[in-house]
Amino acid sequence: MNKLPELIFNISRKGKTGVSVSLNQFPDELIAINKKKLRNGIEDFPSLSEVETVRHFSNLARLNHSVDNGFYPLGSCTMKYNPKVNEKIAGIDNLSAHPYSPVDLVQGNLRIIKELEEWLIELTGMDSFTLTPSAGAHGEFTGMMIIRKYLTSLGDPRKIVLIPDSAHGTNPASAHFAGYDIREIPSNDEGIIDLEELKKHLDEDVAALMMTNPNTLGIFEKNIVEISKALHDNGSMLYMDGANMNAFLGIVRPGEIGADVIHLNLHKTFSTPHGGGGPGSGPIGVSKELSKFLPVPRITSEGGKLKVKYFTEEGIGRIKNYYGNFLVMVRALAYLMALGKENVSLVAEDAVLNANYIRKELEGHLDLPYKGKTLHEVVFSDSGLKVKTLDIAKRLLDYNIHPFTVYFPLIIHGAMMIEPTETESKETLDNFISVMKTILKEAEENPEYLKNSPHNTPVSRLDEVYAARKLILRWEKSEV
Ligand SMILES: *Cc1c(COP(=O)(O)O)cnc(C)c1O
Repeated sequence: MNKLPELIFNISRKGKTGVSVSLNQFPDELIAINKKKLRNGIEDFPSLSEVETVRHFSNLARLNHSVDNGFYPLGSCTMKYNPKVNEKIAGIDNLSAHPYSPVDLVQGNLRIIKELEEWLIELTGMDSFTLTPSAGAHGEFTGMMIIRKYLTSLGDPRKIVLIPDSAHGTNPASAHFAGYDIREIPSNDEGIIDLEELKKHLDEDVAALMMTNPNTLGIFEKNIVEISKALHDNGSMLYMDGANMNAFLGIVRPGEIGADVIHLNLHKTFSTPHGGGGPGSGPIGVSKELSKFLPVPRITSEGGKLKVKYFTEEGIGRIKNYYGNFLVMVRALAYLMALGKENVSLVAEDAVLNANYIRKELEGHLDLPYKGKTLHEVVFSDSGLKVKTLDIAKRLLDYNIHPFTVYFPLIIHGAMMIEPTETESKETLDNFISVMKTILKEAEENPEYLKNSPHNTPVSRLDEVYAARKLILRWEKSEV
């Protein structure tokens, strides 16, 4: 395991320098101009050679865990391996045109956006898409604004959005920011929405239900068609959170099972790496009656040419500058084209197979509160163990495995939410399973050892609450 590198201030030695250029060869005027720009005023700025600086930062970077250096079964986040060729394609010269380029000069870029929209329409069965939202939560907010505008246009804006207790935290937040009050509805014993319970909450104030399918327990909401009918009979809309589309890809079209709005996460399912805070993309698809409310810009086709509409009479306006995160769209289109229409469903099949392989192997060793069939992920509980979920998660770090999602969804005691994704081999899954069994044995025989883990990482157990409350992102002299 890598050690924590020395603080850069400790390896600094006065007089060392990164670059040394002979100034004799430059005219005096140039030197005079550039001297003004030299920053001399930083006290105790570390002095190092170039190679020491490079090594310092490379060693720091090596401490990061990523999909490229180990298994990363972070449930609900879909941390899958994204083919490097898509990065290469997104890096092609001239793809990143200036956003104000004349439409005639960027027909190719517009075509990329349009073709991706068409792919997503086909995959989801929705009527139309916007690719402008820059993340899942942003898509949710956009979708709820569209629902609001639509219902307002009918003269009946309504006040309440229903959200199941297993929902991702962004759902209530987005609905709230779109101006709605939230009403939580409980999941039933099977971990899904209970139709009868839902009906009790349906009144003339309910604008929509926001539901995740497969839900955050990895379970398919099998009553979805009846749920959507009950909502529509009540004049309410069905918002489907499709951030975890991995299980549905090429198999289930949400538009056909009653969704009025859906968002997808290109940075989960469609080949953009995420987790480091890089750009994302949360396209939303809507049904026919909601299409005219989509935000601008809209790309239209006229006489074989693509045009951009910056204003629509009824749309919700603009939700993001320019077109959205374009290079994320490029990766998604490259990914889908490489798979081909006939192979897209393999993603879902393998994602579900891998998650169920892990489930079967660990089922006898960990408590599984909801016994129903699961799709792309499985959620165990720490009930009955001598240690907590956090202790197991920390111990996994000693084995170079990124912990699964912990303590979410909230309806499971000490939730361990495991999503292997389709990109992992049987050997990787077997290794994870065997590590988990070893850790569970340790938990039985020597729980204290787990409670003090990790043991092999550069720093051991951290005070996460303190770290979150008193986050220091910048060097402060007094700290050294
Ligand atoms: C990740 C996720 C979101 C939010 O997506 P962001 O891009 O992080 O905003 C919403 N719902 C579910 C189910 C998710 O897994």
